[in-house]
Amino acid sequence: MANRVWPEVYKKLGVPPIINAQSWVTALGGSIMRPEVLQAMDDAARVFVDVKQLNLAAGEIVARICGAERGLVTAGCSAAQVLMVAACMTGKSEKNAEQLPDTTGMKNEVILFKGQRNRYDKAFVTAGATLVEYGSADSATTAELEAEINEYTACIAFVVAGAIPAGIGLEETIRVAHEHGIPVIVDAAAELPPRSNLSKFHKMGADMVAFSGGKGIAGPQSAGLLAGKADLMEAVVMNSLNLDSAVAAIGRPMKVSKENIVGMVTALQLFTDSDEAAEREGWVSKSQFVAERLTGISGLRVEIEDESSNRQGTMPVLYFEDDYDGPSVAEIKKQLEGGDPGIFVGGRGDEISIVMVNVQDGEEIIITERLNEILRN
Ligand SMILES: *Cc1c(COP(=O)(O)O)cnc(C)c1O
Repeated sequence: MANRVWPEVYKKLGVPPIINAQSWVTALGGSIMRPEVLQAMDDAARVFVDVKQLNLAAGEIVARICGAERGLVTAGCSAAQVLMVAACMTGKSEKNAEQLPDTTGMKNEVILFKGQRNRYDKAFVTAGATLVEYGSADSATTAELEAEINEYTACIAFVVAGAIPAGIGLEETIRVAHEHGIPVIVDAAAELPPRSNLSKFHKMGADMVAFSGGKGIAGPQSAGLLAGKADLMEAVVMNSLNLDSAVAAIGRPMKVSKENIVGMVTALQLFTDSDEAAEREGWVSKSQFVAERLTGISGLRVEIEDESSNRQGTMPVLYFEDDYDGPSVAEIKKQLEGGDPGIFVGGRGDEISIVMVNVQDGEEIIITERLNEILRN
């Protein structure tokens, strides 16, 4: 562990720290919480409180910041996805909530554009719903959506993510859904920043919107945000860990601790209070540092890209041209990951992206040195 701190808690377990240049990925730890968030969680851990009262109070802050009627802290975006669908199926009936995941007698179909199928959509069926696809892998029409709407439709799900196609778009999805009296639920897990997205989809009329807490907001990794229309959010509360009723809720395995509730709202407030331009400036300067030092390698082209090319934040992207004859992308990644410290980079297919959103100050130097060693050998 050259020149780096290996916290005792990880050392005891034999798990070394790594450099995360792959974004807010769950498998690498999400994000790093600010000291104020850790302090808030530490304070929260020292006394008992009524946890339902706490989450409802935190939910008011979530709702206000998202510009929604009601909010709640959840155990991550995936948990919020489960709860959104559960709420759309049960409505405010305790009997229905008790019955899940058996959906007999309830509306139980979730409609999703085929092109938006992704590895997180299992959460939409966890509560017992059935997924109904419309359109093809890369295109869809309003007519194709309308053809799937029937008396069993519980909701229409929409996923907002850089690499996922929008199909007919959220606006049109909401228009069609509301014409049929059906709610639209949105998974926008990793779409923060920009901070404006916290309220954007609510303003468009989405009925409920979920975000991850441990990605761009830098809250606890096992927390998330859910906000939306009052009636549906009441049904969400009923289906989540419902501490003051006898309902055996589908959301029981997705409890949110008092520490995570407090950490989440603290992180959210710090996130909205902090300067987006300054945050971006940090990513840009780290990107430039790397790009400027990877010149003169034949066949290697380095571009600094950002959201305009569906990237998360700002990052240098390494492209390997025909006249490149160094190690393969797979070999470069293997060497980076196997080094000390291990460096995990991103990149689709035959490119490497050095995603800066989680690269801590100074780590860009280590990344640059290692890339130069590998690429110039
Ligand atoms: C990360 C992610 C999720 C899961 O979010 P968690 O907060 O980790 O539960 C769901 N959907 C998408 C598109 C994501 O990127």
